[in-house]
Amino acid sequence: MANKKKRNIAMFLGAGASKAFNYPVTKEILNLIITDIKSGILFTDDDINDRQAELYRILVKELIINLSPGLRPAFENGKTAEENKLPLITDLLSQAEHLYNNEHTLADFNFDIKNPLLGDINTLNERWNLKDVITLLEWAIIKAINKEGNKSKKKLDRFISWVRQTNVSENAYISIITSNYDYAVEWNLLEYGEGNDAHKLIDYGFNWRDVGDGKVYLRPDNPLFRIFKLHGSTDWLKCHRCGFIYINPTEDIYDLAFSNIKTHANTCHCNYWPLSPVLVTPSFSRTVKDTNLSQVWRNTLELLRTADEWVITGYSLPGEDLDIKSLFIRALKGRVKAPLIKVIQQSKNSQVQYDHFFGKENYTFIEGGFEHYDLSAIQTG
Ligand SMILES: [Zn+2]
Repeated sequence: MANKKKRNIAMFLGAGASKAFNYPVTKEILNLIITDIKSGILFTDDDINDRQAELYRILVKELIINLSPGLRPAFENGKTAEENKLPLITDLLSQAEHLYNNEHTLADFNFDIKNPLLGDINTLNERWNLKDVITLLEWAIIKAINKEGNKSKKKLDRFISWVRQTNVSENAYISIITSNYDYAVEWNLLEYGEGNDAHKLIDYGFNWRDVGDGKVYLRPDNPLFRIFKLHGSTDWLKCHRCGFIYINPTEDIYDLAFSNIKTHANTCHCNYWPLSPVLVTPSFSRTVKDTNLSQVWRNTLELLRTADEWVITGYSLPGEDLDIKSLFIRALKGRVKAPLIKVIQQSKNSQVQYDHFFGKENYTFIEGGFEHYDLSAIQTG
């Protein structure tokens, strides 16, 4: 690879690509959360006792109702909310973060809610504030996203084998950029037994720590795959003392961050507890501050700036993605020759946005969705 010039393809997978592999899209998430609160399923987890789970559900419900009081009836039994008529979870999360960022708040989450699980406060850190409840809402979002996705392996097969075949060939190399948190793609790229060599096989765009011996892996020189996850991943955990991220290339570790018991699995090799998830949930009112992610973003910019071809799929250029639009535009401005750009979308709904963004003559819009697209039509020669 080092000597021969391969055709360099940057493939951007948005939420719609995950939809093709069974993950829910943004407009479905609020309904999934409400349903799981009503049925008492949300937050049930090995490391969370029933009282904690119930308390967390009450707080998330109150946050949602505080942000959008008209949603109270959606929590009543017997009523089924119409998914398409509910607000987007991104709107609610942005609203909550906007309040918090401006040092405002809503409910008094300790005494407004009359429930025996609340109000018995003995020390300062037992008080609930808006930030804590936003953290629970984020966890609920991730749980909703992950719930269905694990069943998706078969649907990915065609895409996975195409990426693998292309990258071992002499002709082209596909780098994947994604705003999704699920690990469907990278876990399936690795074949049975390759999980232990993930540090040699996959370039994640930053140096990371091994969950077993704590060793820090540098980015590999000659990776078989490159996957840059702009918003983090549910198989990453970060230590706020040493700053390193753990990646578990075969197991979901997001829930470990919410256990209140210090164990080997949720403690850093620098002995700091607790580890934290690395997930930038979609919000208008959010900037990425993590230094690991800022490396991923910078390396993504360079990848886009130098790639021969961009393939964007399952991504509708949503309004809240200011950072991603900035990434595309800066990468284009930083080039001498424009890349070949293809946008593959399920429907034509986002075509107007793309026409305005790239200019009609500068890209090709392909309707019909990623699952049905003939991948060989992406130039690999
Ligand atoms: Zn640490």
